[in-house]
This record gives sequence, structure tokens and C-alpha cells, in this order.
Amino acid sequence: MNSLTASMWCLPRELRSARIDLFSRKALLIARSLSSSPLPPPPSITQDGKSLSIPDPSYPGRYHAIWLRHHCQCPECMASTGQRTVPLSILSGSVRLTGAKVEGNRLQMDWELTNGDPHSGYIDMDWLKANNYSKESLSAYNASIEPTVGKTLPVMEHKEIIDSTGGLWKWLYNLNNTGACLIKNVPQDLSSYRKMVESVCPVLKTIYGEFFDVKIETDPINIAYTDEALDFHMDLVYYQSPPGIQLLHCIRNDSCIEGGHSLLLDVLPVVEEMRKNHHEEFLTLTKIPATFQKIHFER
Ligand SMILES: [Zn+2]
Repeated sequence: MNSLTASMWCLPRELRSARIDLFSRKALLIARSLSSSPLPPPPSITQDGKSLSIPDPSYPGRYHAIWLRHHCQCPECMASTGQRTVPLSILSGSVRLTGAKVEGNRLQMDWELTNGDPHSGYIDMDWLKANNYSKESLSAYNASIEPTVGKTLPVMEHKEIIDSTGGLWKWLYNLNNTGACLIKNVPQDLSSYRKMVESVCPVLKTIYGEFFDVKIETDPINIAYTDEALDFHMDLVYYQSPPGIQLLHCIRNDSCIEGGHSLLLDVLPVVEEMRKNHHEEFLTLTKIPATFQKIHFER
């Protein structure tokens, strides 16, 4: 990082859930762009009425009656705000499909429920395609977010993020998809820095305050305030809700400085490697509760 002055690393913690949110948004965009696609062949309902399939490779696998009922998009089931109003209690019993046909760009369906009234409604075909949850679709999605070990990190300019919502979106997209983003030419003053941070979310106040300096001190109370190299670690793991995004702002780095490299590790491929090749240890780490604590009387 020798050549980088006033740059910043941003690291989201809960990558998986954030990726899912972004994927849904992407799916919606795809759905909108496909609104004029040709209609698929008529659906066929299984004998027990529990699911249906659409004989078109764009809609692989089957859709379950209960899932379809839950996502019905008719005005009775979805408010004008786009929020679902289907009471979950009706889904606790048996839900059967009694009819299904494609009309226009909608899949029209009839349901019979043991815990609710019969219902007729519909779901947009493009939405169905974008939200297909078959093994094939999920595998394709997972393949698209393969770990990015060794690949170049996305680099952006501070101005791009501040000056346009498109730039802001790209920053968040990079965070979701790569897990980290390098931003160049961030001004050194705190107010510009705060403005950029708060364009995404409020700053979380921790025992360190909102912003704090990481610099060498003569009588340090934390190893971070020394010139010792730190191995991979995660900050604030002892919090019930650790910060979702962490930002490091490099204020100054003179050319005479040796070392000081920032190393980033995407833990998702590590977890995947553990799951596949060290399964017993993986189970230990995922099943046995572990507690973290911080004891320091000056904090
Ligand atoms: Zn409905």
C-alpha cells in the first residue's frame, strides 16, 4: 500500500445475507428486462396437487403449492407497496393446487387449503423465472459467487461514490460480490470521511467511539497501537452484533516506510474448504458454542 495515500478498505462481515439481498434486486431487474419474453408451455400439476412444473428449461425443477400460495401477487395478497399480506397461519395446513394456466405474462392458479379459504391468484412469469429455487438455479447462482481468492480487488475513486448514486451502488455491489473494495483519494479530513460513510449507514458507536486512530503509541494498551505485524483476525467479535462493514482509512504512508501491508482474507472459501475436506473440525466449529470476551478496565 506504499503508493496509496488516503485510501480505504471496506469489509462487510455478513456477506452471505447481503449477497442474497443483492441477488433478489438483480433478479428483479432481470425480471423487468425480460417482460417481453415468449410465453412458456402450460404448467402441469402433480397428482397430489403439492407442486407444479413448467416444461421449459427457463423454469427448471418444480414449484411447491405452498410456496406459490405464499407468493401470490394478486391485489388481495400483495399491497400496492409490494409487501405481502398473506397470513402465515393459512400455510400451516395442507395447500393444494387445483388449477394452473399461463395467461398473458402471468401464471394463474387456484388453491385449496385446509386452514384457509380456497383462493385464485397469480404470479408474474418473469418473477417466477428470476426466483426459481431449483437445484440447477441455485447451483448456477452459487457458481457465480465463487470465492475470489487471488483475484484483483475492485478499485474505485472517492469522487465516484460521492458524486453519483450509480457510484454508490457500484461500491455496495463490490462489497457484496468481492467482500472488499479499495477506494482511492478519500480526503483526509474527518467530515468528508464521515459523509461518505453515512451515505451508506449510520456509524456504529463501539467502546472505541465512532472513529479512532490506529497509530503507534509509546505505552500501548492494544497491540494494534504497536508496529507488530497482526495475523488475520476479525475485530469486535465479542460484540453481540459486530459491525457489518469495517472501514480503514489510510491517512498517510511515506515512501520510506517498509512493510505495513494490509492482507485481506475471504473466509467463505476457507469455510467451504473446511466443510469439504475437514468435515469433523467443521462440525466442531459450527456446533459447539464459543464465547469471546474483552476485558480491559480502561475501555
Ligand atoms: Zn392472491
